[in-house]
Amino acid sequence: MFRPFDFAQARVAVIVAVAFVTLSAQTAPLDVAIINVGAGGGQLFNGLGGVAGRMDGTIGIRNGHIVSMGAVDIRNAREVIDAAGMVVAPGFIDVHSHGLETIARPQLRTADAELAQGVTTIVGNPDGGGPVDLAKQRATLEADGGIGVNVALLIGHGSVRSAVMGGANRAPTADELTKMLGLVKQAVADGAFGMSSGIFYTPGRYAKTDELVALARAAGGVYTSHIRDEGNYDVGVVASVDEVIRVAEEAKVAGIVSHMKALGPDSWGLSKTMIEHVDAARKRGVLVWADQYPYEASSTSLLAAVLPGVSVADARARLADAAKKPTLLAEAKENIRRRGGPHSIAIASTKDMSLAGKRLDDVAKAKGTSPEQAAIDIILDGGASIVSFNMSEDDIRAIMRQDWTMASSDGALSLPGESVPHPRNNGAFARRLGVYVRERKVLTMWWAINNMTSLPARVFGFTDRGMIRDGAIADVVVFDAATIIDRATYDQPHQLATGMRAVIVNGRVAWKDGKPTGVRAGVVLR
Ligand SMILES: [Zn+2]
Repeated sequence: MFRPFDFAQARVAVIVAVAFVTLSAQTAPLDVAIINVGAGGGQLFNGLGGVAGRMDGTIGIRNGHIVSMGAVDIRNAREVIDAAGMVVAPGFIDVHSHGLETIARPQLRTADAELAQGVTTIVGNPDGGGPVDLAKQRATLEADGGIGVNVALLIGHGSVRSAVMGGANRAPTADELTKMLGLVKQAVADGAFGMSSGIFYTPGRYAKTDELVALARAAGGVYTSHIRDEGNYDVGVVASVDEVIRVAEEAKVAGIVSHMKALGPDSWGLSKTMIEHVDAARKRGVLVWADQYPYEASSTSLLAAVLPGVSVADARARLADAAKKPTLLAEAKENIRRRGGPHSIAIASTKDMSLAGKRLDDVAKAKGTSPEQAAIDIILDGGASIVSFNMSEDDIRAIMRQDWTMASSDGALSLPGESVPHPRNNGAFARRLGVYVRERKVLTMWWAINNMTSLPARVFGFTDRGMIRDGAIADVVVFDAATIIDRATYDQPHQLATGMRAVIVNGRVAWKDGKPTGVRAGVVLR
């Protein structure tokens, strides 16, 4: 029999329930109490506003959330963190991370390199890469006790394209496009926040813009792109930024230019034009942002840097053909020049690890050959990852100062002894605060913090993160603004950042007094 809903009775039940929850919230002990917030010269940056908030009080954390700010009862708090003299801020969000490529390894699951810098959330599967099956990836991340930081997944365009079309250098047929759209939609159902592309790399570079628009529209959310050309290899960096704007505009998604830069001396100074184009697009309502890591060197594969778009098999065949060998060598030589010459390229990891850390000109000299021949020899012998010095400080600063530029690392998780990787793995966020805020004064502290917390949370749609307020999810960092610094250098890239007193992930203390606690409180966001 149909019975009308009894509002009066329901209201009583709600009042009783609210009263119970409120009462137990006041009496149950806190999981974590951060005390002396704002005291002793410390500051609270809530991530939300233009100015730094100041307060003398306590932040209470219970059941993963911030439950009280101000004066609260800290008796019985399970853990107390003293923030006197410290900066308290929302946990940092790394919007372009390669961390997922190795985080499932047992030694890397706590993600110490991220925690040491205050990073509590990473966005994975950048540059069009990562797996196509995100449900399986999620299960791997959640298995075996989980991981130390939160993770947001993207679906990689290059991975989708190669699953459907292999390495085909052509536009998809209608049937292939339908299949790709299906994979993208499945990934979104499995929790993807959008699509990444890496159209400098194969097979992503085989896609025309309309393919990217169609797939980005199906993905919705964000479209992040390692653009077609960050220098002057191909269409040029400005046209490549324009392509992100076009995809964002036509697909009606939030376009993000990944690790924005002007690569190579020929392109230095073009940040001005790139910024003008992004500003103009934003003025007419296009959703477009960028991210950036604060270093003058980038990192990629030797093959992509020296012979972009050429496969190893192709390179081998051309080298063996006396008629084609000179053009291959000339192409490699020109691309090495574009990046700043052979001394600007350092080997990070390769089969012969005695080369790790060495510059290409020195490698060539030792082998008695030309830099282009030495590079191709390494490529044919299994390849290498490189650190490539190719940016100007003026461009870095200009891009960094934009209010639409978010912080990223582009870094991976790595172990000492396995390679000489880019120091950004262990330093990007600490360097932004220590070098670009404190030492070089390019950014103010509140600006830097907003662009690594609330801005990315808003752009990606991470609800209740990237800010400190009652009810928000408790991703919180406590650090010393006077000492925070990156310790990873190009020669010694495995040194963790210092200056972070505490890092709280989903209400649990994952980093304390300069050390990991071993707590793995990260979740895969949806
Ligand atoms: Zn990239």
